[in-house]
Amino acid sequence: SNGLMAGKRGLIMGLANDKSIAWGIAKALSEAGAELAFSYQGEALKKRVDPLAAQLGSQIVLPCDVGDEGSIDLLFNALEEEWGGLDFVVHAIGFSDKNELRGRYVDTTRGNFTMTMDISVYSFTAVMQRAEKLMKNGGAAVTLTYYGAERIMPHYNVMGVAKAALEASVRYLAEDLGKDGIRVNAISAGPIKTLAASGIGDFRYIMKWNEYNSPLRRNVSIDDVGGSALYLLSDLSNGVTGETHHVDSGYHVVGMKAVDAPDI
Ligand code: NAD
Repeated sequence: SNGLMAGKRGLIMGLANDKSIAWGIAKALSEAGAELAFSYQGEALKKRVDPLAAQLGSQIVLPCDVGDEGSIDLLFNALEEEWGGLDFVVHAIGFSDKNELRGRYVDTTRGNFTMTMDISVYSFTAVMQRAEKLMKNGGAAVTLTYYGAERIMPHYNVMGVAKAALEASVRYLAEDLGKDGIRVNAISAGPIKTLAASGIGDFRYIMKWNEYNSPLRRNVSIDDVGGSALYLLSDLSNGVTGETHHVDSGYHVVGMKAVDAPDI
């Protein structure tokens, strides 16, 4: 342990399995001495999350469906009872109908648009409403976003629109909660093969394109994201809030296909 997070307690939302970005972040935080609690969506995931939590010495594993206000209240009531306070939150949650993560954005249905915004955007605000009350000594939060918020990426469609709204909400949350010493930031991660990503059309091609054309000429790992999340959740980043920090091998600064990139 490097001790960076010693004495800090935080909630990890969005762990599904050991490929999850939430897992890379949880490992980095735990290694730095943080005490962790986990929330999972639905009974089916409990049997996957329990052993991962145990691996990091956490016994606090609680259900929460962020589409349900009552479920979020139950989670934060349980955390208050368990800990009395909270230092950080990781929100690694997003969802959309995978039938609309291919084809044309213009064909997005009202129902899926609303659901995608609710689960992938509003949920972070709903979580911060509760977290604010527990972060009595200030705190920090990180959510996960993607470059499809800023530029057109193939098949990202309605999720790109949702991530743009998520990044805007990070800025407004930073203003509202900054007065209480709570910092709110986003990590814009490059493509990583996870359960959620497998729903996106041509994902393997997107991974290859990023690998061949990003300055680092490789894709990022969940451990790369974990290291950057550790910075944003620790006192090392005490002057940073409202930021979208790219952990994408530098892909977002590139203007054109690399001259040495193979044709794919
Ligand atoms: P993942 O499938 O491992 O995690 C997604 C999580 O969202 C799952 O744990 C799932 O249970 C949870 N979730 C979905 N609906 C929920 C609900 N109603 N209530 C509670 N939880 C719910 O995939 P991941 O790639 O690790 O995704 C984590 C975050 O990272 C997402 O916001 C995703 O958009 C973002 N992201 C992913 C990539 C990538 O390439 N994998 C890139 C940039 C950003």
